[in-house]
Amino acid sequence: MRPLAKTVPWIREGTDLTVAVNPTAADLVRFSDPDHVLERLLDGADGTRTTDEIAAALGVADLGPALTTLDEARLLIDADPLATVPGTERARWRNNLGFLESFANLDLGPVAYHRKLREATVLQLGVGGLGSAVLMDLVGFGVGEVILVDFDTVEPANLNRQFVYRTSDIGQSKVERAAEWVREFSRDTTVRTVADRIGSVADVAALLDGVDLVIAAIDQPEDIQTWINEACVAAGVPCVYGGFSFSKGQYNSVWPGRSGCLACLLLGEVFRLRPINRATGPSVGIVGGLMALEAVRYLTGYAEPAAAARTWVVDFATGEVSATVRWGRSSKCPVCGGLNDEEPEGELTLASRIDVGHLTVVPDGDDFLLGDIGQGTFIAVPEVGAVVIEALRRGATVAEATAEASRFAGTDVNVLEFVGVLRDRGMIRAGASAEETPAASPARAWVGRFVDGLARALFSRAAWVLYAAAALAAIVILLAEPGLGPSWESIIFLPDPALALLINIVTVVAMGGIHEGFHWFAARRQGLPARLRISRRGLFVVFETDLTRLWSVPRQQRYGAFIAGMAFDGLVLGGCLVARLADRWGWITLPETFGRYLSVLMLSAVIALVSQTPLFMRTDLYAVLVAVLGCRNLYRVSMLLLKGRLLGLTPAEQSELDAASERDRSVGRWFSVLYLVGVLGLTYLLFGIFLPGALSLIIWSIQNVKSTSITSIVFWEALTVVLFLSAELLWPPLHWAYGRMRRRLEGVPA
Ligand SMILES: [Zn+2]
Ligand SMILES: [Zn+2]
Repeated sequence: MRPLAKTVPWIREGTDLTVAVNPTAADLVRFSDPDHVLERLLDGADGTRTTDEIAAALGVADLGPALTTLDEARLLIDADPLATVPGTERARWRNNLGFLESFANLDLGPVAYHRKLREATVLQLGVGGLGSAVLMDLVGFGVGEVILVDFDTVEPANLNRQFVYRTSDIGQSKVERAAEWVREFSRDTTVRTVADRIGSVADVAALLDGVDLVIAAIDQPEDIQTWINEACVAAGVPCVYGGFSFSKGQYNSVWPGRSGCLACLLLGEVFRLRPINRATGPSVGIVGGLMALEAVRYLTGYAEPAAAARTWVVDFATGEVSATVRWGRSSKCPVCGGLNDEEPEGELTLASRIDVGHLTVVPDGDDFLLGDIGQGTFIAVPEVGAVVIEALRRGATVAEATAEASRFAGTDVNVLEFVGVLRDRGMIRAGASAEETPAASPARAWVGRFVDGLARALFSRAAWVLYAAAALAAIVILLAEPGLGPSWESIIFLPDPALALLINIVTVVAMGGIHEGFHWFAARRQGLPARLRISRRGLFVVFETDLTRLWSVPRQQRYGAFIAGMAFDGLVLGGCLVARLADRWGWITLPETFGRYLSVLMLSAVIALVSQTPLFMRTDLYAVLVAVLGCRNLYRVSMLLLKGRLLGLTPAEQSELDAASERDRSVGRWFSVLYLVGVLGLTYLLFGIFLPGALSLIIWSIQNVKSTSITSIVFWEALTVVLFLSAELLWPPLHWAYGRMRRRLEGVPA
């Protein structure tokens, strides 16, 4: 290898070297070059000496890092391949090689690009205005073989723009005269001709054997472009399309399996105006030139195709060139919808563009949380990660995002690796086009508006003040008048204990449902659809809300949805206590039975609130604490720290702990002490409420089963209570024993 520095101007400012990569566009790259190695390398790499010879001449022991730095900025090429190009060829293609050199690096040089063109076969459909312009440019670029297809003869009206023909060609076959022009112009391009009409998809398909790229410069018959699209997509051959209407010209291209196709674009199209051709020399020259350049991008890969599934429009009135938004690949497309994505796994390159439109980025302490709400995956990244996502979202390539992130971080950032991690976690999908969501029906829209209104009312500022006041009132009254609070005795609040038990159960289940409903509405208030699940725990129906999506909003906005459930429980407790206090003070008079039912409600609320204390069970209170403390996986980290202290950790657990965030580990050290609160809470629930309540019911039931006749209702009621309570009490040990037995049968260590 003999490194050759590209001809670029630079200036030195102190220890910095600023290089103009592309002087006209003022693309400047700044290097830190305190010892002048880069500067001397730009001077010394003249393509005549090997790397070792240059290193010796510059007196530098290891030239590697400097070479890498300049090569990554695409400032070096290898002169060796240039020497293999014969002098005559080099003379003819000198400026093409110079153009391609701008995009080359040490690995892939201008000669490699040039060879790809020399080996390429292009099928050109149509040698009219656009066709002859594209043909001249492709042959001028040194494309190895062209196949020309047209059935027309040269007419006088063609000569305003079809410059491969001369006045003496009038009346002769276009493909023959165009082929003759190619042969006279360059011996490096071989040419084949097909003087035939295209009338079907099969006609196009028959011509695609060995073809690398198709130029569609043809607008008759009407369906020709859809035929070409269908044949090319099926054969996996890229195609560049161009055309005119009135004062505008346009072109686009289709990259089968990678970009959307013409059928994707036309999906759902109702009608199309027939374009009217008003092409002139300059207009075919401009559009034909842009099409040829797109073809060269496909054939050499010096840059990504610019017009894949994206129409560029040239306005001949203003001279402006503008592009439409890239159209997606539709899974419903009859032509390319069934095609597998051709971008293989692992082929993420610096030139890739990544679709990250579905990822959420929210600040979270010093870090940012990157989330895929659809699949509920969230990862924490440093701020530079957010910079990368922002760049990719704007459509930057991995290489461009790397430059931006490295500038931001002040050090090299490996974006390719970062994107690889995201892909491995399934957070990005190559080539995935967003599925359209079906429009909501009017009835659903009405329900949606009602739900949103209710969510706004439930979590307005005034509502939160009410919840806080109720919670405060509950605490004050319970401290001042403990007798007003609930006790297990309120379970039997009716003369008939069985009926009382039934009403208790219904109350607990209903309050649980409303508790979860509060979570759901609060999440909805943040604009996040949470999922409400109904499951069973023991013999009880349990409602659960999946709040993982909340991780996609900033921390301050998460509290509301986490606290919402407890806010409801507190509201019930406070409300009942205030009513009972008012009754005691004689301000109101509660009906006897209703007064006792308030105890049942309060008991439910107390059970719900005390159930929040076992933080090791990831309760709402746990979620609030995690958010307040700025932690992420406190539950797991504090468990691991506790286990490490008591029993020691396995190597896997140790590495999991090492990977945990600094914050999690420092809080985790004391967090497990709070587990004691949960143990106290559970002890209170078990011995203060459940066991005495269940015992008194069982005693009542056994007495009645023994003393009443089998024909009386009380007997059957009592029997039901006994069976229900036995099942409720026996369920946990039975469930545990069953699981143990099943694990043993399946050979899984318990
Ligand atoms: Zn398609
Ligand atoms: Zn809850």
